[in-house]
Amino acid sequence: MDSSRGARTAVIVGAGVAGLTVATALARKGWRVDVAEIDPRGATAGWGLCLTGPSLRALDALGMAGACLAEGSGMNVITHVDVNGQITDEVRLPRLLGAHRPAMVGIARPGLHRILSEEAERSGAVVRNGLTVTAVDEEGDLVRVRFSDGTVRTTTLVVGADGIRSSVRSLVGLTERISLGGIADAAQCSPRTISSAFREGFGLPPLAYVRNLRLARIRADILTSTDPVGVIAYRWGITHLGRFAGEYRDRFGELPSATAARR
Ligand SMILES: Cc1cc2nc3c(=O)[nH]c(=O)nc-3n(C[C@H](O)[C@H](O)[C@H](O)COP(=O)(O)OP(=O)(O)OC[C@H]3O[C@@H](n4cnc5c(N)ncnc54)[C@H](O)[C@@H]3O)c2cc1C
Repeated sequence: MDSSRGARTAVIVGAGVAGLTVATALARKGWRVDVAEIDPRGATAGWGLCLTGPSLRALDALGMAGACLAEGSGMNVITHVDVNGQITDEVRLPRLLGAHRPAMVGIARPGLHRILSEEAERSGAVVRNGLTVTAVDEEGDLVRVRFSDGTVRTTTLVVGADGIRSSVRSLVGLTERISLGGIADAAQCSPRTISSAFREGFGLPPLAYVRNLRLARIRADILTSTDPVGVIAYRWGITHLGRFAGEYRDRFGELPSATAARR
């Protein structure tokens, strides 16, 4: 057993985007960081992704935006075309890194993973592949972690960065999801009753209601502020600006850029 009492230590489960970034941030602040990645090759899945403004800004704070911009392709505008290839709309993306650096970068996932893992290791984090955590127990202010190779460590912090189906969530008992069924159980009626009551009260199914509410708030902000549309949309949790522009047009009969032109 490796006891780390007294030191600032972290066990991070998962060497994906979140795990490696947190590893770098903590190691730079003097934490002793161990990362357990279940994939024996430490490989990352998928082809590529776009690092949008907020992601680039976070990477910039850790000194990694430059490497990502050099590795990928910078973009400032999203252009929509119709089935004939005619341009229907352009969305100018907010340049959160400043006027002279791109708003967004398209990057191959292996390239991003290489940048993040090299920086984590350079900062002092130890990444071990083919390893996971099988038990997590609180011991006062510390946490006792058992790894799949049988070793045990007492640590200050455990970070569950093991993705959408996180096993750490289950190990610490955070398995409860709020579902329509759960709400129906709590209200002692059937999910169908909840759905039709919602539709009766608000005229729409629950998800459509939330989408319309968000679009209305964005529209109000576009009309009452001078912020770029992309910045306002980001603020309201929009991550796919192209899809957002289409939904906005369907709802209000004009593109967000047309609304912005009237203010
Ligand atoms: C098709 C597609 C396109 C996308 N495009 C974009 C985009 O353009 N821009 C964008 O910002 N986002 C995009 N995303 C979302 C983005 O991929 C995720 O938000 C991001 O990968 C989440 O990072 P993460 O570190 O939380 O999880 P992950 O990237 O899933 O990393 C989790 C890591 O934990 C490891 N792991 C899993 N279980 C365990 C375990 N039990 N023990 C130890 N390790 C474990 C995994 O092997 C993996 O390495 C896209 C997603 C998909 C599916």
